[in-house]
Amino acid sequence: MTHGDVLVHESWGQRAVFATGAARALLAEEVERLGRSRVLVVVAEGERELAARVTEGLPVVATFTGVRQHVPMEVAEEARRLHRDSRADVVVTVGGGSTTGTGKAVALTEGAPLIAVPTTYAGSEATPVWGITDEGRKTTGVDASVLPKAVVYDAALTTSLPPGLTTSSALNALAHCVDSWWAPRANPLSSALAAEGARQLVDALPAVRQDGADLRARQAMLLGSYVAAVAFAGAGSGMHHKICHALGGAFALDHAAMHAVVLPHVAGYNLPASADARRRLSSVFPGSADPFDALLSFYASVEAPRSLAGLGLAEPDVERAAELAAEQIPSSNPRPAATRDVADILWSAWRGEPARLIPVAGPDLGEKEPGDTDDGH
Ligand code: NAD
Repeated sequence: MTHGDVLVHESWGQRAVFATGAARALLAEEVERLGRSRVLVVVAEGERELAARVTEGLPVVATFTGVRQHVPMEVAEEARRLHRDSRADVVVTVGGGSTTGTGKAVALTEGAPLIAVPTTYAGSEATPVWGITDEGRKTTGVDASVLPKAVVYDAALTTSLPPGLTTSSALNALAHCVDSWWAPRANPLSSALAAEGARQLVDALPAVRQDGADLRARQAMLLGSYVAAVAFAGAGSGMHHKICHALGGAFALDHAAMHAVVLPHVAGYNLPASADARRRLSSVFPGSADPFDALLSFYASVEAPRSLAGLGLAEPDVERAAELAAEQIPSSNPRPAATRDVADILWSAWRGEPARLIPVAGPDLGEKEPGDTDDGH
């Protein structure tokens, strides 16, 4: 946030290690470094085998496998109970953002340190943001205790990601970058990190799509998604995340694909009002005549998902989602967004129409630079 010549950027302390093929050894080192001897493993059913390999040799006292997307309250309660019953003293998550999120829910109330081994590009491991869904409403909060003390990145754990999930998860990470440019606490540091994260992701994704076993490109994706999430943790949630937050909590859409679908529509809305974001997006696609066109071409080249209807959002829910989201749009947004504006974006995304630039009407709406006012993820 900038006030005149004052600039504030908050960094969150955490150890991140990247080493392809070495997750097991590095994870054991991190558990030892924290001086812990009773491990609760949190893992989704689908990644059990992966987690068993990674945690082999650790002092595991219990394994929680009831992970579900958006961390329903009953799932959080069950995992916390297992933590208490097993007298675990550290939580190790192996999996995507839903798994990390379940570990965060345990850390939040049980006071246990968390170590994350991410297997997607969701980036939750790099933020102090937790989220729990109760009766269709997702509550989120910021708490330093949920930030993993250590993150172990191993590209070899991501080769099993199918191409569709690889793509949508990478675009979820790209959304962290783009949304960081107009988020409430956007500042030159978070924005520069976001541009670097976006560059890595955009460079590496085509190579990974070409060859899912390309470990060098997979590692670049992990680096990119980590930097993206660090930028997002510094800048906070902008318009894109507020819209997806409303959609995800109320209508349980697949997180990564929903982010992938919504991003170009929000970009089409905000880019005309933000020279700063246009400049930064141009740096991600060097040589392109127009950054928005470049983003759309990139989307086409990676066969990104296009429609919210295709993800299961029912037609009558579009207007409701717009109302829920519009209440949350931060005042840092480069242009105002009323319920009608958000609804137009969502209808377009629902139908799977190509995203388009929405011109700024009126001569008096000056371009807003990032870094204003309200907070919130
Ligand atoms: P996810 O964790 O639900 O995983 C999606 C699917 O991929 C699951 O079926 C999972 O079993 C499977 N999977 C995971 N790793 C795999 C691998 N290596 N190979 C094959 N399959 C694999 O989805 P996600 O997109 O990673 O995370 C979404 C969740 O993360 C949402 O709940 C979202 O709110 C949360 N999130 C939170 C933050 C934050 O800062 N708090 C940031 C980003 C995402």
